[in-house]
Amino acid sequence: MPRPLWRRLFGRRTRLSYAAGAITLICCLTLTTITLWMLRQNRDLYLAQIHTSVANLTQALASHAEDTLKQTDIVLVSVIARLDTPDPALSLPLLLARQAVELNQLAELLVLDAQGMEVASANLPNLRESYADRDYFQYHRQHADLGPHIGRAVRSRRNGEWVIPVSRRYNLPDGRFAGVVVAAIREQCFQDFYEGFDIQRHGVLAMNMLEGSLLARRPFDDRDIGRSLFSTPVFQRVLDGEKRGQLVLHSTLDGRERFYGFQKVDNYPLVAIAALDTEEALSGWHHQAAVSLGLTALGMLLFVAMGAYLTRNIFIRLQAEHHLRIVTADLEHLNHALEDQALHDGLTGIANRRHFDQALQQEFARAQREGTPLSLLMLDVDNFKSFNDNYGHLAGDHCLRRIAQVLQSFERRPGDLAARYGGEEFTVLLPNTPGEGALDLAETIRQAVQDLGIPHQASAYRVVTLSGGVSAGVPTPTDSPQDWINKADNALYRAKASGRNEIAASECLALN
Ligand code: GH3
Ligand code: MG
Ligand code: MG
Repeated sequence: MPRPLWRRLFGRRTRLSYAAGAITLICCLTLTTITLWMLRQNRDLYLAQIHTSVANLTQALASHAEDTLKQTDIVLVSVIARLDTPDPALSLPLLLARQAVELNQLAELLVLDAQGMEVASANLPNLRESYADRDYFQYHRQHADLGPHIGRAVRSRRNGEWVIPVSRRYNLPDGRFAGVVVAAIREQCFQDFYEGFDIQRHGVLAMNMLEGSLLARRPFDDRDIGRSLFSTPVFQRVLDGEKRGQLVLHSTLDGRERFYGFQKVDNYPLVAIAALDTEEALSGWHHQAAVSLGLTALGMLLFVAMGAYLTRNIFIRLQAEHHLRIVTADLEHLNHALEDQALHDGLTGIANRRHFDQALQQEFARAQREGTPLSLLMLDVDNFKSFNDNYGHLAGDHCLRRIAQVLQSFERRPGDLAARYGGEEFTVLLPNTPGEGALDLAETIRQAVQDLGIPHQASAYRVVTLSGGVSAGVPTPTDSPQDWINKADNALYRAKASGRNEIAASECLALN
């Protein structure tokens, strides 16, 4: 049983929707994958840039610290040389003052004796204060090491500013401890240098001692100076022997996540640290990601809208095609019906005059072409006027229908055609049939009609009969279909004249 229309359309619509949905989904997935892949690539690029920036910053900080300390240490070495070999032409305070002037990073340059008392100072007046309590003094007093020593950041006794003491021990000629030469580097010198870098709002630059205590930091906070960061992972890694490295950490000071870079300062027990805030460093990428994802969402919306639009259009087209097919089928059906009506007689249902004329033209031409015989029967119901008069027109119609059925039953071969010629006249076209066969058939038909036994009181036979004329032969090129009709008509006339209910052959056929 064929499926109902709504079900067929609905089924197609569902399949179409699934297909469109699948295609849209694939497009959306592809778009999302490409976007995510590009964002991932960009993030890697951003991270690589951040790592490079952090590495460059730590390198700059380390170089700056090394240069600053080296310059300061050279001053210490030259002061100790002057202490070992006094120069009567240059007093110690003057030497210190000159050296301090040359290095404006120095807040103070002092010579202390073995008790920690100030012997000479670059700054006047000499306050003759005791520095015996300072860590660096106690270190030198206890260690014979003559190398430079960097102390924890302290506040200057003279003006209270933060300074980083760099010191060396000097000995008496016999090797005993004679005192300490100390240069105080302004913490501000590091601050000024650090201010020159763009590290955004939450970036950090710092210089620490190897044992963890903070010497300088941007952003600067009094409370941080001297604080020990030894327990942080950076120092663990330095302790493990790494000279430089990078890691992501939450700051112990402000809790923010940062990309940290560290580098040990060459020749000095210091570690330079640079850190960029994760959120700030990736803000460009975050912005880019938001725009890309927004555009992707817009693209997906477009895909969905286009998919829905296309599906709807395709469905409408399918629907239109379906209706068109139905209309076409209906039209074809109607055409067949019209064709049928145009070629068949409305009363009897057998071929009409028009159909007969066409068939005669075709078969006549064929017979002429192929030299085959063509026969034609002209049949006319006898005394039919009086039949109508006696039994009525409807009975006349019924009688004509029954005679037509008899004629149709004698259409034995494909080309045979029984037709109503007009009124109560009928004709039978018999292609490929010679005269004898046509005469026999005409006689059989005449008998069959008589055998119908349709009562006809005005007839000499008391039943309905018919008379017929037969024309037959192989048409010559000069013959026409009308000749065959005329000949059959003439024969019919003769049959009527000789008493009706008989068949007559045309004259030429009779001659044959
Ligand atoms: P004949 O034997 O010489 O042929 O005499 P006839 O009465 O048959 O001849 P005629 O030509 O005088 O009359 C033919 C009649 O056929 C006239 C008409 O009433 C009748 N007739 C023609 N067409 C139809 C039809 O469609 N239905 C009916 N009921 N009668 C028809
Ligand atoms: Mg007639
Ligand atoms: Mg008649």
